[in-house]
Amino acid sequence: MKHHYLGLAARKKGAWRQLFVHGSKYDLNHLKIYLQERYQGETMLTKNGRSALALALKGYFEKGDKVIVNGFTCYAVYEAVKAAGLTPVFADITKEDLNFSVETISKVADGAKGIIIQNTLGNPVDIEAIEAFAKEKNLLIVEDLAHCVGINYRDGREAGTVGIATALSFGKDKSIDTITGGAVIFRAPRKHEIKAPAKAPARSDNFRARFYPMAGAMCRGLSYVHLGGAMMKLFLKLHMVEKSADNKLDLSVKPAKFEAKLALEQIKTLKNEKPLREFYLVRSRDEVLKKLKKVGYYFDGFWYEKPISPARYYNKVHFPESDCPVAVMVASTIINFPTHYDKKELERAKEIVKEYL
Ligand SMILES: *Cc1c(COP(=O)(O)O)cnc(C)c1O
Repeated sequence: MKHHYLGLAARKKGAWRQLFVHGSKYDLNHLKIYLQERYQGETMLTKNGRSALALALKGYFEKGDKVIVNGFTCYAVYEAVKAAGLTPVFADITKEDLNFSVETISKVADGAKGIIIQNTLGNPVDIEAIEAFAKEKNLLIVEDLAHCVGINYRDGREAGTVGIATALSFGKDKSIDTITGGAVIFRAPRKHEIKAPAKAPARSDNFRARFYPMAGAMCRGLSYVHLGGAMMKLFLKLHMVEKSADNKLDLSVKPAKFEAKLALEQIKTLKNEKPLREFYLVRSRDEVLKKLKKVGYYFDGFWYEKPISPARYYNKVHFPESDCPVAVMVASTIINFPTHYDKKELERAKEIVKEYL
């Protein structure tokens, strides 16, 4: 890799733009109108993806209802289900696309009222089969677009235009990435009243969201001299950045204006998308990661090292490991790369990974 210096590591204009871009209240409005048209429903802008998903669920389900969740996901999804007062039931995945299938959901569907489709890493589920199953069992479909804005299902429909509600995340490394922010689109009449988030985010949260891309670029720059990790630790300690998994769920807060501006710019370009991240299942993952680190790759977390990630939250979930053996296997062998590496860098990393397939 050629970019050995800190200044060059911040080469992506994005980091500077995120720091200084100005947003107005019109940006919030424009984004809302755009989402309303693209996904055909009443739209609310939210603090993050998990708050969007929680509002989606609150709109249609009763307290205590069971909803089926992909058995390979992030803690944010679990948190959203719990915040809505619901009970998650996890369905195992297939190692080809990291999604549940009709076969695995039929094992846990008894008594369930809904299902959350996530199209893991941008790989579409078999929507026709799942929709037919959902109809038969009276399951309401909610689509979580954190990984898959702009992808199409195999029958040609766009992700986010199938279920009763659609949740978006604008979180770090997601399809739309403004560090925080999200949106929910209610595509069918709601059963319960939902108040639109109306509070602006705290100044300190705004600062952290603005600074994160620059912090990441600086750490990647320093990773070539093996100081990236230390620098990120320092930023975390000083509360200048926040790990994305730690972003709080809050149903009363809307995104920052500048985030709405950036999110709208980004989503307009997302059409007929390929998967968000390529993944590999490898032998001796620790060894592979060590090798990648040695040549200057800086990982602040890949997706996902536990069936429900990050690992530090895993114990809270009581994940049914024996019912989801494929998810457990995948979580211990998967490697996938953050979105901020360019094509050349990814090719180089792949050379290292290939030896371990
Ligand atoms: C990250 C993520 C979310 C929620 O995103 P936040 O904006 O971090 O709350 C929801 N679903 C999936 C599958 C995710 O990976």
